[in-house]
Amino acid sequence: MAWDVIVVGAGPAGSTAARHLARAGYRVLLLERAELPRYKPCAGALAAAARPYLELAPQQLASAVEDSFRRVEITLCGREPLHLELEEPIADLVDRSRLDLLLAEEASRAGAILRPGCPAYSTEVDSGGVTVQTAAGPERAAVVVGADGATGVVARSLGLVGRRPPAAALEAELPVPPEVLERFRHRVRVDYGSLPHGYGWIFPKREHLSVGMGSFRPPCPGLPGHLRAFLRAAGVPWTEPLPLRGHPIPHVGMAVPPAAYRALLVGDAAGLADPFSGEGIRQAVLSGRIAAQEIAAALGGAARADLSFRCYARRIKKEVRRDLELALRLADLFYRYPRGAHRLLAASPELLALCFATVQGRARYRHLPLAALRALLRLLLSPQQPSPSLK
Ligand SMILES: Cc1cc2nc3c(=O)[nH]c(=O)nc-3n(C[C@H](O)[C@H](O)[C@H](O)COP(=O)(O)OP(=O)(O)OC[C@H]3O[C@@H](n4cnc5c(N)ncnc54)[C@H](O)[C@@H]3O)c2cc1C
Repeated sequence: MAWDVIVVGAGPAGSTAARHLARAGYRVLLLERAELPRYKPCAGALAAAARPYLELAPQQLASAVEDSFRRVEITLCGREPLHLELEEPIADLVDRSRLDLLLAEEASRAGAILRPGCPAYSTEVDSGGVTVQTAAGPERAAVVVGADGATGVVARSLGLVGRRPPAAALEAELPVPPEVLERFRHRVRVDYGSLPHGYGWIFPKREHLSVGMGSFRPPCPGLPGHLRAFLRAAGVPWTEPLPLRGHPIPHVGMAVPPAAYRALLVGDAAGLADPFSGEGIRQAVLSGRIAAQEIAAALGGAARADLSFRCYARRIKKEVRRDLELALRLADLFYRYPRGAHRLLAASPELLALCFATVQGRARYRHLPLAALRALLRLLLSPQQPSPSLK
């Protein structure tokens, strides 16, 4: 067999898995459909909590970072702004094509054979290994990793599908006049309440704004109209046609089975995006790392060798999904009652700060319910109307 592991997809999940496996001495083929660098529809907010998982040198990461923020403006249907400012950065705003290229190069440097422009078409598993049909012919390995994103062929070939549809998002990289870009420098704006079960965002990049909107309950046919209304309310000019690109966000609410005999799914292919925020880079990199560890344990002849990767599925449940399953329940409440949620956030700067501390990695979703309950009690017992502004 030519390969120990074939990794399909060189996004953050696949490149991370390939890099760790190659570093451990395994023969790894990393297939990528696109030529690199490639465009990926993404707002590019790299959560501060995700940084350590990337294992990039500070100057390497800096070459992909276009801005970073610790200030957030939150509006309800374009009105009633809340302002939050934290002491530490909440997230970096990155150029995804640059970040993904860096990660793929690291995999290659570790010894993985990177084959860009080479799509995988299907995967077949038998008792002796895995055959992946690719644009360059069939390839065979002991294990396959499906890191091929939201519409991956590996999951489809193996029947590893979710129970509900992914979130639907639209994104545009919008050139704006310098004074508009300056207004959003080091801060982001998010808005909810106008579309069902979702939100819109405006994130500053070096030379444009990344704007978009997504709903966790598709179909959402009015999405482009909601996005235009949001931009108008935020004072962001544009010329038609808006350069919109649509893309699914596969989140934990889909409950995709992450493993099968000789096969593992990572990142978006495993439906691991946050069902509240849509954040997925952190879970992509984390699941890629866990997959590499479990494959090494299985192929290394360890006592716990398990080619059905039940241990991987258990670790994904415990280390990635558990907190996000709570996020799913919180998101359900939040997006069902956006007005009430906005009032609660307006009344409790601590709660608002805690929400964004989850992005920093200083808090988890499990810390939110008690804080929300406290804020609710305070709101109900307070005789005065809370101020809608926190600053
Ligand atoms: C509009 C939008 C905004 C988002 N904003 C954010 C954000 O601000 N912050 C955040 O953390 N997350 C965000 N996400 C989510 C994030 O983009 C994903 O969770 C993340 O990219 C998942 O990484 P991945 O490696 O699993 O998949 P991907 O990044 O999708 O990589 C999969 C790779 O597989 C390749 N591929 C696909 N099919 C094949 C095939 N058949 N053969 C070979 N290669 C194949 C693709 O070309 C691609 O390079 C956003 C998503 C969307 C849609």
